[in-house]
Amino acid sequence: PLSICKVKRISPSVLRKPRASMLRHLTSKIKATGPIPVAEYMRESLTNPVTGYYVRGDVLGPQGDFITSPEISQIFGELVGVWCISEWMGAGRPAQLQLVELGPGRGSLAADVLRVFGQLRSVLAEASVSVHLVEVSPALSRVQARRLTGEQSREADGEDEPVYRRGRTTTGGLPVSWYRRLDDVPAGFSVYVAHEFFDALPIHKFQRTEKGWREVMVDIEPDEPERLRFVVAPTPTLASSTLVQADEKRNHVEVCPEGGVIIQQLANRISESGGAALIADYGHDGTKTDTFRGFKGHQLHDVLASPGLADLTADVDFSYLRRMAGEGVACLGPVTQRTFLKNMGIDTRLQVLLRSCSDPATRKQLIQSYDMLTSPSKMGERFHFFSLLSPSRLAEPKRTEGLKMEKKSPAQLPVAGFTELSFS
Ligand code: SAH
Repeated sequence: PLSICKVKRISPSVLRKPRASMLRHLTSKIKATGPIPVAEYMRESLTNPVTGYYVRGDVLGPQGDFITSPEISQIFGELVGVWCISEWMGAGRPAQLQLVELGPGRGSLAADVLRVFGQLRSVLAEASVSVHLVEVSPALSRVQARRLTGEQSREADGEDEPVYRRGRTTTGGLPVSWYRRLDDVPAGFSVYVAHEFFDALPIHKFQRTEKGWREVMVDIEPDEPERLRFVVAPTPTLASSTLVQADEKRNHVEVCPEGGVIIQQLANRISESGGAALIADYGHDGTKTDTFRGFKGHQLHDVLASPGLADLTADVDFSYLRRMAGEGVACLGPVTQRTFLKNMGIDTRLQVLLRSCSDPATRKQLIQSYDMLTSPSKMGERFHFFSLLSPSRLAEPKRTEGLKMEKKSPAQLPVAGFTELSFS
């Protein structure tokens, strides 16, 4: 069941000529300075600027791609689009709306969200809408640019520009900018979307031992210089002495401090400039232990076997994200993908699409993808939605006491997706 959640097709050319450069890079590093934290292994394998898994162009060849919810069905992104507009309305329809996506992959989610923005142009009315994509991979940014802007984008001249690519959407002509880091995105009212982004951020792994918490490291197999293995650090590391909760009950934990930093940045931005964040990923609420795994082709893959050639991922710990979000924002969820999509009206949307479609093959495909997204045994219960909101969004409307009658404040809009919508 794991392989259906993240099915990656690697282009045959990659499989034919295995590239050992990442492995060589890692083994020489370990020889020089000793075993490295799992987080460093994961960061290098995925996002090394030259040989990282996401950075190399050939993983996303003409046939190569990964199948995630936005790739499975357009309905997914459409409902996320409705969520974005609903939060913009809930904030009192500010004059500016920035759509910010972290790790946009092939750009499908953003494309579906923007189609909804186009269809609801009359609702967005005078709002000035712009699109901001945070992407480390230049190769993927090109795929996204083609998808969203056609040929209407160009790279920045200087290497150090915070915006490394700019364009305009093919439909609507909205400005789109690409950044390497969230910090570079300008301040302003924003709706942030991150789908299968946090699971790709590096985790540290810790093991409870008789001597206390110790960090799990990646080392070279003593008799096989081409193979890597896990070892437990003999003494505490900075990470093991700072990242494990004092009252931790589990024997093995994974912590993603980079995810924590990004959540803090999101929380600060939302409390300072307003907005909301929608985070969707597979994950747990601080209960799971060893979730670090690799994917290659359609299969689960040994995490240490081919660094740079396989995807690496770990379940998102939503309880950690909630803790890192702090007091400045309200957190909602996690709720299961099934609950979220049902609350967003996926059943009605499916019926509408089916009613306007008579081709049996397309109808079958619509129903199958609906099932894939919502079925508890497929993606419906493995994936969760989590949200950061400005606290004012959930505040009870003010009640006034005394004789003076105040104008009734408008009823607060419920946060879509996290509560059942009732049309009474
Ligand atoms: N959201 C897409 C893609 C998920 S794959 C989907 O659901 O289909 C993860 C994405 O995050 C890729 O686009 C990858 O290049 C990007 N990414 C991974 N680590 C990143 C980092 N540290 N900063 C910015 N983007 C990152």
